Amino acid sequence: MPQPVPSAAASTSNDTLISKAKSHLLQNYKQQPIVLVKGRGTRVWDADGREYLDLIGGVATCALGHCHPDLVAAAHAQLDSLWHVSNAFYSQPQIDLAAQLCEWSGFERAFFCNSGAEANEALLKLARKVMKDRGTPERYEVITFERSFHGRTLATVTATGQPKYHAGFEPLPAGFHHVPYGDLEAVRRAVGPATAAILVEPIQGEGGVRLAPEGFLKGLRALCDEKGLLLLVDEIQTGMGRTGIPFGFMREGIRPDAISMAKALGNGLPIGAMLCREDVGASLSPGSHGSTFGGNLVAAAAANAALKVIRQPGFLDEVTAKGAYFLGRLREIQGKLPPGRVVEVRGQGLLVGLEVDREAPQVLGKLREAGVLGNAAGERTVRFAPPFTVTREELDQSLAIIERVLMAL
Ligand SMILES: *Cc1c(COP(=O)(O)O)cnc(C)c1O
Repeated sequence: MPQPVPSAAASTSNDTLISKAKSHLLQNYKQQPIVLVKGRGTRVWDADGREYLDLIGGVATCALGHCHPDLVAAAHAQLDSLWHVSNAFYSQPQIDLAAQLCEWSGFERAFFCNSGAEANEALLKLARKVMKDRGTPERYEVITFERSFHGRTLATVTATGQPKYHAGFEPLPAGFHHVPYGDLEAVRRAVGPATAAILVEPIQGEGGVRLAPEGFLKGLRALCDEKGLLLLVDEIQTGMGRTGIPFGFMREGIRPDAISMAKALGNGLPIGAMLCREDVGASLSPGSHGSTFGGNLVAAAAANAALKVIRQPGFLDEVTAKGAYFLGRLREIQGKLPPGRVVEVRGQGLLVGLEVDREAPQVLGKLREAGVLGNAAGERTVRFAPPFTVTREELDQSLAIIERVLMAL
């Protein structure tokens, strides 16, 4: 059982706060029944003072752990000088962030927003506008993939290839086609005179941590070149070094036309970005798109500090090494369990999925009670996205708990 840490206890208990939550919060989430009040690195504490190893970090957002000192200092300094000016004016944190992201990613232009869904909206609007500007306004459709996840706004939820997220919200916006992930021939068959772009995740995160087969992104790039389509890559979960390289698309040495990012960009402060090539970026001309809060100064300051840490020489090699160690040890555990209990261990870098033989929340509840936090990706996959700063000791401690919980199922 997790050890109580009295100094971290809130004045109100988990149970009291959760009953208040149930009276007032919209009941649209399936929340785990703890109230988290404090975090440091890989560890968090709940309102009763219980400690947990946080292997999900705000759903892959807190990539440098909770309260990383460099990020806290950067956000504090910004809070003390200027919070927000909107995009009616320039601001230095945003200018610096655009420069850092362009240098790191190889794109020429950055647009800032507040979330993943908004970053994908920017991609979708970009695709339509580029086709209008090229004199082919009949091209507005976007091909996306089954089991993909692109967000919850009407357009991005329609792009999402999971019918359960569509149910009840029809009529959905026109212009989206879903094809099986990894099937290049199916994509080719789906391309028609109305196709404008292909939108793809390098690894399907929410869809169950499913890796694209080797050569898939390269094949999509070639197809887009052949047919005059835009290749849009959703790097919201895979960007910022999560898979051990800056962006997932880089594994195949391709250059997309544009990408979206969010999750780990502000290490938990809300910020999203769309990065694109000069030629397509010109289509979003002055006044054509925007956001009031996009690129907020405090979030941008935290993102600049996060990038500085992640871009240190050798830092991402550590992410690769820790990820390989974690995956290897999980596969060892899989081998010790009754056959079939863990169906598959998948992942890359520190984005890891454990497909189990039952509903993921059942396993997640037992893990939480034993002191390890994860979350579900798809129906039967337990997802872990530990902070890049996780130590071997913390991984070992987590693995011992995971093994014990899976053994006792
Ligand atoms: C989380 C996620 C989104 C949605 O991001 P929000 O910030 O929740 O809008 C979109 N695409 C991918 C791949 C994601 O992982």
